[in-house]
Amino acid sequence: MHPGLWREVWILVGIAAASLLFGALTGRPFLIAAIGFGLYIVIHLRHLRQLHRWLQDHQSGDIPDAGGLWGDVFDELYRSTKEARRREALLSDMLTRFQSAASAMPDAVAIVSREGEIEWANPAAGRLLGIRYPQDTGMRLLNLLRDPDFAQYLQSGEYAEPIEIESPETHEIHISVQITPFGSRQQLLIGRDVTRLMRLEQVRRNFVANVSHELRTPLTVLGGYVETLLQIDMIKPEELRKHLTIMHEQSARMQRLVDDLLTLSRLETSPPRILDETVDVPALLAGLREQADILSGENRHVITLEADSGLRLLGSREELTSAFLNLINNAVRYTPAGGTIRLTWRARDNGAEFAVADTGDGIALEHIPHLTERFYRVDTARSRASGGTGLGLSIVKHVLLRHEARLEIESEPGRGSTFTCVFPAARTLHADASRSAPTAA
Ligand code: ADP
Repeated sequence: MHPGLWREVWILVGIAAASLLFGALTGRPFLIAAIGFGLYIVIHLRHLRQLHRWLQDHQSGDIPDAGGLWGDVFDELYRSTKEARRREALLSDMLTRFQSAASAMPDAVAIVSREGEIEWANPAAGRLLGIRYPQDTGMRLLNLLRDPDFAQYLQSGEYAEPIEIESPETHEIHISVQITPFGSRQQLLIGRDVTRLMRLEQVRRNFVANVSHELRTPLTVLGGYVETLLQIDMIKPEELRKHLTIMHEQSARMQRLVDDLLTLSRLETSPPRILDETVDVPALLAGLREQADILSGENRHVITLEADSGLRLLGSREELTSAFLNLINNAVRYTPAGGTIRLTWRARDNGAEFAVADTGDGIALEHIPHLTERFYRVDTARSRASGGTGLGLSIVKHVLLRHEARLEIESEPGRGSTFTCVFPAARTLHADASRSAPTAA
């Protein structure tokens, strides 16, 4: 038995013995016993009242002081309340830390009861899913997320996979929502913004569709001619030459497409190669101007080159050649015969610029922001007829990105266009300040 209890038993025995002794001496044993036991009960009642008061005051203030069994009870109570307070402080600290971590998360997090009522949510839940805490506490989740697919998902109880829904806040945002039951009656809802992923997926699908479409036409033409040739026993040499010329054109078209695709994929996927060759841009442009003359051929464009002879670039010679040639090639292809094409390479505030200005068709304003998208063309038939793949300006954009440079496009339909590559000062080198005289072809 507990020692405190033994003590109480001995006190009771003592009271009984003293009552018997004094009772025998005074002849009033019951009165003496009643006084003794009465005092004993009063003392216990006092301690009981102290305990009751202490409990009523929500255990604030010092624990009552007493000896004997009550002392033990009070000590035990004191220890367990202290331990409970320590645990409570620990839990509240953990909860505060969990809530601040969840509040800082970019993903939406909400705690929902099994009945679908909102209990808690972080700020991202407000932004992404329109669940605002504390205003929406106790609201039914389905009143806020009214997507029928989500309602079905919530009611199905099958939460192994997330579900994608449109954000009720803005339709342009797509959220992947997953529910995880926890505890006895609660569920954790996590919502992640997957808009960028979905856009990338869309770009990938469009890209595959575009490449297939681009390859299908020349392949169909080639296949058709091969079939015709197979069926004809006797074919006139001039007819054969005509067929072979078309087949050659179509295979060249496929070759150009594959080459451009490979260039783009190299630019997009490979880590920046040595981009710190000193590129003698004026010399490079002199070579490209000659190529422009060849490209122009019968069309006899007036092609001029004006270049700051001492101005060089730090970069990849191969990539810059590809970007500049694409711009020159476009100017030749989209400028009617006899038009003028001006190539300029000069210093400008905080860097240098290479500009190709033509007096060609020009481009309507609404097309300009899209020109560097893969396969974007203003006039598809015109582009194909002149040997375009729809990838040239994408290549230019990627090369410039890798050189911390940007492409500026100015154009006016019917008057011509200027495509300017703007390089930062960190990539330009000045050998001497002399400027070469304009030359014309
Ligand atoms: P493409 O192979 O079709 O020329 P690009 O990516 O090089 O592909 O160019 C995209 C589109 O931008 C072209 O189809 C054309 O409509 C337009 N474009 C590019 N350069 C010029 C230019 N100098 N003048 C007029 N339009 C141009």
